[in-house]
Amino acid sequence: MISKKTLVASLLFIAGPVLAAPFSYDLKPQKITDNTWVLQGKLEDFSNKNGGNIVNTGFVVTEEGVVVIDTGPSLKYGKEMRKVIESVTDKPIKYVFNTHHHPDHFLGNQAFKDLEILSLPKTQQQIKSDGNDFAENMYSLVGDWMRSTEVFLPTKTLDIDHLDLGSHRFKFSAFTGHTGSDLVIYDEKTGVLFASDIVFYQRALTTPHTPGLGVWIDEINQLKNYKYKYLVPGHGPVTMDDRPLEQMTSYLKWLDKTLTESAKAGLSMTEVIKLPISAEFDSIKLTKLEFIKTVAHLYPKYEDLYF
Ligand SMILES: [Zn+2]
Repeated sequence: MISKKTLVASLLFIAGPVLAAPFSYDLKPQKITDNTWVLQGKLEDFSNKNGGNIVNTGFVVTEEGVVVIDTGPSLKYGKEMRKVIESVTDKPIKYVFNTHHHPDHFLGNQAFKDLEILSLPKTQQQIKSDGNDFAENMYSLVGDWMRSTEVFLPTKTLDIDHLDLGSHRFKFSAFTGHTGSDLVIYDEKTGVLFASDIVFYQRALTTPHTPGLGVWIDEINQLKNYKYKYLVPGHGPVTMDDRPLEQMTSYLKWLDKTLTESAKAGLSMTEVIKLPISAEFDSIKLTKLEFIKTVAHLYPKYEDLYF
């Protein structure tokens, strides 16, 4: 028979490592080419387990300093990201960019508040108007990981189309398909395209602020004109080909067609969310969950057009 003392000791032994486990995002920088790192998030929805780390962030180390692309979902993430950057270079951070106003991309700003944080003008406005609601929602979804996180606005808006830093030239493009204001950054020197959430790969795209799927499809076509060597999506693995663009185009077209045909047939929202996802998209994570949300976001607009 196990004595009470042994039982307590063994329970402590079991509980000990769990309680002592480091509360950390454990960010692993992935060097994709010269001077360029990506921190790839999980292909999941926000949860208490992943702390909101479902997003890709990145940084480029130039001769004159570091460029940071997105700051992650929380103050804690931003701090850990900064440590990762310091572990690979002693160059100072020169500029921080927020690609768009979704919470997983900018709520780490506080960890960089001593620096210049840039975004498109509309993104700054969107963070101003929606940021607090997003932060509140993140607290309820991921809990303690958000501790002390507050909205910190981009300090400056972007009014140039490129930036030369060291031997790198970063070209900026203002897209709109995902949120109405989406910054795509192309590093001409290395051929890395930071596509922001204009591109999701192997993870279903999200639609709460899209101006329309047609706009988004057009912009994916424009991305095909970049002579990139590396494509960094906002969510999902980095590739050296255009599979992510092909997947985005097919999936957006399927969504648009499904919603159009459903509206023409007079289906109710409840009927639409029960429709099967095409087997073509079996490799993409979270299609069912995101499809239901997309129907809620966009179906009323399709009904207005065709009903
Ligand atoms: Zn995102």
